[in-house]
Amino acid sequence: MEGPKLDRERLERYSRQIIMEEIGPNGQDAILKSKVLVIGAGGLGSPVIQYLAASGVGTMGIVDRDTVEISNLHRQVIYRVEDVGRKKVESAREFVSNINPDVKVETYHTEVKPNNILSLIKKYDFVIDGTDNFESCFLINDACTLSKKPYSYGAVLRFSGRVMTFPARSDSPCYRCLFKTAPPPGTILDCATAGVLGSVAGVIGSMQATETIKNIANVGELVQGRIIEYNALNMSFEETMIRKNPNCPICGKDPIIKNIKDVEYTGACTLKRK
Ligand SMILES: [Zn+2]
Repeated sequence: MEGPKLDRERLERYSRQIIMEEIGPNGQDAILKSKVLVIGAGGLGSPVIQYLAASGVGTMGIVDRDTVEISNLHRQVIYRVEDVGRKKVESAREFVSNINPDVKVETYHTEVKPNNILSLIKKYDFVIDGTDNFESCFLINDACTLSKKPYSYGAVLRFSGRVMTFPARSDSPCYRCLFKTAPPPGTILDCATAGVLGSVAGVIGSMQATETIKNIANVGELVQGRIIEYNALNMSFEETMIRKNPNCPICGKDPIIKNIKDVEYTGACTLKRK
């Protein structure tokens, strides 16, 4: 399939990316033809959308069911005061078209659910989890693992954040290799009750955007088989290796999750009781 050509204007627009031999014209061409789905247009989704739009991602899908609130503005940097009350997907679409007309934006004013996620991710090359709850996190992992779709996971809370990339390779661990089930509700803090520094979401979202570009242009090493944890208070990044769990319920040797319809995406996010 023919994609966009690197004409004079595009060569100039993306010149600082193309000049790097790791990207080059072929890498830029791959970026311009790529299709990326951003799930959650919030604190993580904002920098992801901003940098992927600027980089020239060809098609960007944005999934979010919320409207912009005044309390979002300290970290969700793609929205303005005038956007308060508007659908995030509509404001985000406008933001992207103001940065880069090369990007085709497809919006989904909904949340990901077991009955829509497979069709949502189907046409995209790479998925970004910018959600903020365990149900969506497990659902995205399970749908991407079963569909063999590469995706980036990110999370932030207070002054810290973490990033992992799951390239959908058979030798690579998935999120359930690390956490088999979700913790009991109420035992883990969230940003609404514990807070988050806006710039911390900026760091983690920017890392997710970088992982996306690396995957598309086939550059460098992804954060796979390891987790990177960022601590803004002492400004440190810590890396922990993660092994593939042979007993993982979805990607192990004898998986018990073969269909997302088998899973109850509430509470522990484990198999439905028969
Ligand atoms: Zn696994």
